[in-house]
Amino acid sequence: MRSYPADYELITPGSLDAVLCLLSDEPSQWTPIAGGTEIMVLFGAGKLATRKLVSISPLPELREIVESEDLISIGSGCSFTQIRRHAAVKKHFPLLAQCASLTGSIANQNRGTIGGNLANASPAADSSPALFAYAAELELISTRGTRRVPYEQFHLGYKKIALAADELIRAVHMPKRFGESFCYARKVGTRNAQAISKICVAATGSLRHGRVEEIRIGMGSVAPAPLRLIGTERVLLGAALNDATIAEARKALLNEAVPIDDIRSTASYRQLIAGNLLEELLREFAAWGDRK
Ligand SMILES: Cc1cc2nc3c(=O)[nH]c(=O)nc-3n(C[C@H](O)[C@H](O)[C@H](O)COP(=O)(O)OP(=O)(O)OC[C@H]3O[C@@H](n4cnc5c(N)ncnc54)[C@H](O)[C@@H]3O)c2cc1C
Repeated sequence: MRSYPADYELITPGSLDAVLCLLSDEPSQWTPIAGGTEIMVLFGAGKLATRKLVSISPLPELREIVESEDLISIGSGCSFTQIRRHAAVKKHFPLLAQCASLTGSIANQNRGTIGGNLANASPAADSSPALFAYAAELELISTRGTRRVPYEQFHLGYKKIALAADELIRAVHMPKRFGESFCYARKVGTRNAQAISKICVAATGSLRHGRVEEIRIGMGSVAPAPLRLIGTERVLLGAALNDATIAEARKALLNEAVPIDDIRSTASYRQLIAGNLLEELLREFAAWGDRK
């Protein structure tokens, strides 16, 4: 351990309001800690810049999954275990349940939260592609009130997010309109558990008279931030899923997915796999349409 615990302060206010007041009264002084699976790695490595931590882990308001007729709302403090086991998530948002079950190890899934995953803003975050695919919105909260941000507007650059210093992510909202949609998710990593993605992808879509009516594709580890493949989707909208369309889509993907070399993989491998996964998802999408 390269950090000395006595150098740090950790407090646990009794309520969400008390946490928000603290973030507002002492801007940028306090860092929220939820499951701690990111923060404790930095702490252990002696790289945790902040000295003041405010625990949001016990707050019940952040730990609920609430289902209404047309929406599901997942509290930011929900763990991946809670998410992957939840009946309504499994039924209406199977890609998110799948991504949760592919995140880290069981221990990670027990501690790690969806809010921590999103606020940490890793380009490789496993929950991000599913949130693009399901048109998720984030609810952000501060003493100034709450606001909703479409997930695709949340990432502003490498580790830059649309979250003010006095705000918390309160919940993730997803419309229950993808029940009949085609859906696809894959994670490519060194091994099945405990591996950060070399590439991760999730997509939903629908066809009308053999042509693409809607498609939403999210991909991780191919850009400085999690990416919705808007340019690739544009090529696909209204097109029939034949070899020519798939080749066009692969080309479009290479224009917007610009991965880098890092310790987990190389840019060229990532580009190849991103194209292969896109092709696999489109062929499965076409086969799904043929079966309908
Ligand atoms: C061994 C290991 C394996 C891992 N494997 C994976 C993997 O396969 N896939 C993957 O995506 N991730 C993986 N991770 C990363 C990590 O587990 C996840 O990102 C997890 O979701 C983080 O959640 P947390 O609650 O533990 O975050 P914390 O460590 O508590 O916080 C992380 C950051 O988010 C902020 N934060 C937390 N909650 C909120 C909130 N509600 N509002 C605003 N800011 C907030 C904190 O201030 C901090 O900056 C792994 C980590 C480890 C250590």
